[in-house]
Amino acid sequence: MNEENRKKFYITTAIPYVNDRPHVGHALEFVQADVLARAQRAQGDEVLVLSGADENALKNVQAAEKAGVPVKDFIETNAKLFAELAARLNVHFDMFQRGSDTLHHYPASQELWRRCAAAGDIYKKSYEGLYCLGCEAFYASEELTPDGECREHPGKKLETVAEENYFFRLSRYRDQLVDLISSDTIHIIPVSRKNEVLGFLRQSLEDISISRSNERARNWGVPVPGDDTHRMYVWFDALNIYQSGIGFGWDEAMYQKWWPADMHLIGKGILRFHAVYWPAFLLSAQLLLPKSIVVHGYLTVDGQKMSKTIGNVIDPFVLIEKYGADPVRYYLLREIPSGEDGDFSYEKFEARYNGDLANGLGNLVARVAALGVRAGQFLKLEYDPQFLLASDMAGIRLRYEKNIKNFCLNEALGNIWELIGRIDKWVNDQKPWTHDVPVLKAFMETAAHGVQEISFMLDPFLPDTAKKIREQISIRDNAITIKKSANLFPRLK
Ligand SMILES: [Zn+2]
Repeated sequence: MNEENRKKFYITTAIPYVNDRPHVGHALEFVQADVLARAQRAQGDEVLVLSGADENALKNVQAAEKAGVPVKDFIETNAKLFAELAARLNVHFDMFQRGSDTLHHYPASQELWRRCAAAGDIYKKSYEGLYCLGCEAFYASEELTPDGECREHPGKKLETVAEENYFFRLSRYRDQLVDLISSDTIHIIPVSRKNEVLGFLRQSLEDISISRSNERARNWGVPVPGDDTHRMYVWFDALNIYQSGIGFGWDEAMYQKWWPADMHLIGKGILRFHAVYWPAFLLSAQLLLPKSIVVHGYLTVDGQKMSKTIGNVIDPFVLIEKYGADPVRYYLLREIPSGEDGDFSYEKFEARYNGDLANGLGNLVARVAALGVRAGQFLKLEYDPQFLLASDMAGIRLRYEKNIKNFCLNEALGNIWELIGRIDKWVNDQKPWTHDVPVLKAFMETAAHGVQEISFMLDPFLPDTAKKIREQISIRDNAITIKKSANLFPRLK
């Protein structure tokens, strides 16, 4: 493919608050984004993945105060842990944009503000409302539970906050947003989430506060241009990390190349901010809109909500240390339905590991490699039509690609394991070990083809494992070289 014809693909993860260490839910989002990016790269697209740290939220400030650490040091330590988690999971970010970056992010956010102000969409007014610190958002009382609590943060009382703030004329964009979302111009996946947003937009849309006083912001955050008594409200600048990280306001050529985002991958709790606030800011600023918003669910632990109070928060670093990156990636991507909630338990983790990885994939590769060593050298790759038919390799491949496209990553992995099962069955039916070397050779020339296909399909999901498989059964210019190596996944006791 020549360079000019390569499509660009810009994908972002959500920008996590860095008021705490990352938990396993962050790991889920990181690996999902990584799979989507790698799959896109495998198609030949030029891909940019952005993540970052939302550092201007009030809850970061409060968490730092509680820890008795200067805010700057506190967020620095946590932001590093998020980047470190990605690296340990073998998740590649091309850009990690931090909200406290005064060189790029501050001017980019002030530029967005100025554009919205020029459109007549920013005004000042006194306001009193119920504020959820967890969400960093005001809520109308009818949006809360019967107990008057936020649906995302049960058990936490909302604060009544009264102040004079800058407001954004969100109400002005309601009809346009309904059109954009119902026509899939902004494509929200899965469709249940699209319907949720449209349901929300059916109610009247209130203007939103986009600043707070220096006092309430503890002098932390991006200063409002032209008014040094106010700082930007966290969502206004946090969402803009998607632009500030790729040059908005500081590198026009880079920005033109990558914007708009092809995909924002987010958790269900921040859908409204991404599907309503963010496109409205961009419409106001006369900037291009993201093409799709892909939404994952939440993780429970043993069927319970993960919480510090219950003490069941799963530390992804501990998991990776114990089982390795690919088994953690596998569990998160296979056990959790990509667009829905899912559950983590050590019991299920080990069952998946032993059943799917050690017995399924690891065993098949070891068997084929052992037979290959017996078959000897000078093996050439053959495409046995009988085998292709029996394995349904082409059909499986099509379903696999469709599932990735539809954000059913768990089902795409299911397709790979369907192929593993079929090849396993084919080996059992053929009983190649009962034959002499010439038959064994012919068998191997086909089996290697199957294993190679599995390794390619695994590439976006388990990149290390896929590479290790190709180190054992390597194919170059149709010549097959087989090496026996250590088991890919030693069984857990
Ligand atoms: Zn909340």
